[in-house]
Amino acid sequence: MRRGPWLGLLLALVAMPAVAASMNGFREQVVADPHGLIAAVRQQLDQAGTTLQPARERELLWGMGTAAINSNDDAALAEATLRLDGLAAVAHDPVAAAAAGFLRARHDIANGVGDGLGEALRAADKVLGHADPGIAAWARFQLCDAYALDEKAAKALPLCHQSTEAYRALGDDFGMGDAENDEGIALATLGRVDDAAAAYERARQYYAKANAEQLVVMVGDNLAKMYLKQGRAGEALALSQASLKQELAAGRISDALDSSTDIAMAEAALGRHRQAYTRMRAAVAQARRAGINGQLVDMLRTEGLMAEQAGDLRQALADEREAAKLSSNVDTPALRAIEIELEQRYAAREKELRISELEHANELKDLQLKAAQADAARRRAQQQRQRLINVTIGLLAAALLLIVGLLVLLLRAQRRHAAELQAQTLRDPLTGMANRRAFQQRANELLGRARDAAAPLHVLLLIDIDHFKSINDSIGHLQGDRVLRLLTDYLRATVDDASFVARIGGEEFAVLCPRAGLTAGLRLAETLRAGAAGLALPQDLPVTRLTISIGVAQFDGVRCHDLSSWMRAADLALYSAKSGGRDQVVASKLAG
Ligand code: GH3
Ligand code: MG
Ligand code: MG
Repeated sequence: MRRGPWLGLLLALVAMPAVAASMNGFREQVVADPHGLIAAVRQQLDQAGTTLQPARERELLWGMGTAAINSNDDAALAEATLRLDGLAAVAHDPVAAAAAGFLRARHDIANGVGDGLGEALRAADKVLGHADPGIAAWARFQLCDAYALDEKAAKALPLCHQSTEAYRALGDDFGMGDAENDEGIALATLGRVDDAAAAYERARQYYAKANAEQLVVMVGDNLAKMYLKQGRAGEALALSQASLKQELAAGRISDALDSSTDIAMAEAALGRHRQAYTRMRAAVAQARRAGINGQLVDMLRTEGLMAEQAGDLRQALADEREAAKLSSNVDTPALRAIEIELEQRYAAREKELRISELEHANELKDLQLKAAQADAARRRAQQQRQRLINVTIGLLAAALLLIVGLLVLLLRAQRRHAAELQAQTLRDPLTGMANRRAFQQRANELLGRARDAAAPLHVLLLIDIDHFKSINDSIGHLQGDRVLRLLTDYLRATVDDASFVARIGGEEFAVLCPRAGLTAGLRLAETLRAGAAGLALPQDLPVTRLTISIGVAQFDGVRCHDLSSWMRAADLALYSAKSGGRDQVVASKLAG
C-alpha cells in the first residue's frame, strides 16, 4: 500500500517559523519531491546552526524524516530521527520524541523488522493528550496509520475514523484526506473492496479540496487496486499510469515499482499477458537493482504468477524460490518444504502440459486417421464406380457384338434368300430345270460376247414332245407331268457341261451349244432324239412310246443376227420336223 502522506510540515520553513506545534508544513512536498525536501532541510539546518527554534527544527526534521521514508533514504531517516531524539532531550520536547518514534515505527513496519507497532504506541503515548488539538489529531492519525500499515485493520478503523473527525473539526481537508486514505487501506486489508474504494474516493475529494493534486494521484493508485478487484481493469490501468508518471517525476522508486506492478496486473486482467509479464520482469529487475527487498517478495510472487500464465514455468519456480528465500520469517527446513511443494506443483503442471500436448498429438493423429479413412472410402467408392462402368461397358460391348452378329446372320440369311429368290426366278418349279428367262439370259450373254470369231459356231436346238396333248388326254395331266420330269432327267444327263439345257415352254426345251458347230449340234440332236425314243419308261406309266422333234439352227450373224431371229430359224426347222412326220431332226435352212 502506498504510504499515507505523513503529515509533513514544512511550508512553515519560511512562512511560519515561530508557530509552535504544527507538523503539517511540508505535507505535499514529502510526496511530490522528497529528495528536494531532504536537501532543502539539510541546507536549512546547516545555515541556521543553533539559532533555530525547537518547534521549527522539529517540523523541519519531521518533514525530512517522512521524505526519507518516502524515498527509501535510510541515511536521511537515521539523521532525522537522531536529530529529533537530540532535540527531544535538549528541549524537553515530547512532540520531537514522538516524531522520532513515529518515524522509526513507520520504518520498522514498512520493512517488517523490530516492533514497529510498539514503537508507535509508545510515541503516541507521549502526545495523545497534548493541549494543541493539531498535535493531538496528528498523533491519533499516526497511530491509525501504523495500525493500518501493519494490517491491524480492526484497530486501525476506529482510530482513522476519529482522525477524520478531529481534522474535520480543525477544518483540515488535507488531514481528512490522509485519514480517509488510511481507512481505505484498513478496509482493503479486511477485503471490503467496495467500502475501501469509497474511502479512497472520499480521500481524493478531500485532497482535491486542499489543492493537493499530487496526493489525489497517489490515492488514485490505491483506488486502482480496488478497481482491479472490482473487475474495472481499464479504470485501474488509467489511475496507475497517472501515478507512475508522478512517482517517476518525484523519484519515488518504491512507489513507482508498486505502480508498475499494478499496471502489469491491470494488463494481465485485460488479457495482455505477454505485455504484463514483460513489464513485471522489468520492474523486478529494477527493484533488485534498487535493493528494495521488502517489496521485492510480493513483486516476485506477482511475476511468478504471470510467468506461470505465460507458460514460463522455469521462471515461475525461480521467482517463488527467490521470494521464499527473501522472506526472513521462513526458516531453512520450511523453505525446503516450500521448494518441494513448488517443485511438485510445477512437476504436476508440466505433466498436465505434456498430457495436453499428447492429447493434442492424439487428436491430430485421430484427425489424420479419419482423413485417411475418408480417403480410402472415397477411393473404394471410386473403384466401385469404375467397376460398374467397366461392367456396363462390357455388357454394352457384348450387346453390340451380339447385335452385329445377329445383323451379319440376318444379312447372310437375307442374301441367301435373295439368291434363292433369284435362283427361283431362273428355274422351272415343276422340273427344277432352268426356265425360259434363264435361257434368254444365257443366250444373250453368249451373243453379247459373240462379236468374236467363234460366234457363227453357236448352235441352238429346239425340242418339242410329239403329240403331248393326246398323252395328257389319255393318262391325265399329273402323269403328263411325270413324263415331263422323265424327259428332263434324260436331257440333263445326256447334255454335257459345255452346253446349256432349259425348259422354255409347256413341253418345249432348248439346248444352247456354244462354239459347237452345226455338225456336232446335229449329232447331239440326233443322240437326244434317238435316246428319247428308246427311253425305258416305267411300267406303271401307260405310255408305250415317247418321241421328240428337234429343230436345229446355227448362229451365222447374218440371217440369225440376234436371239429372236435365231429362235425363229430353229422354230421353223422344228416346224419342218413336225410336218415331216415327227421323231426327227431338221436343220434350219436359213443357217449355214
Ligand atoms: P404336236 O405333235 O403337233 O406337237 O402335237 P401336240 O399334241 O404335242 O400339240 P401341242 O404341242 O400344240 O400341244 C401341247 C400340249 O401340251 C398342250 C397341253 O395340254 C400340253 N401341256 C402343256 N404344258 C403342259 C404341262 O405342264 N403338263 C402337262 N401334263 N401337259 C402340258
Ligand atoms: Mg408344243
Ligand atoms: Mg408337242
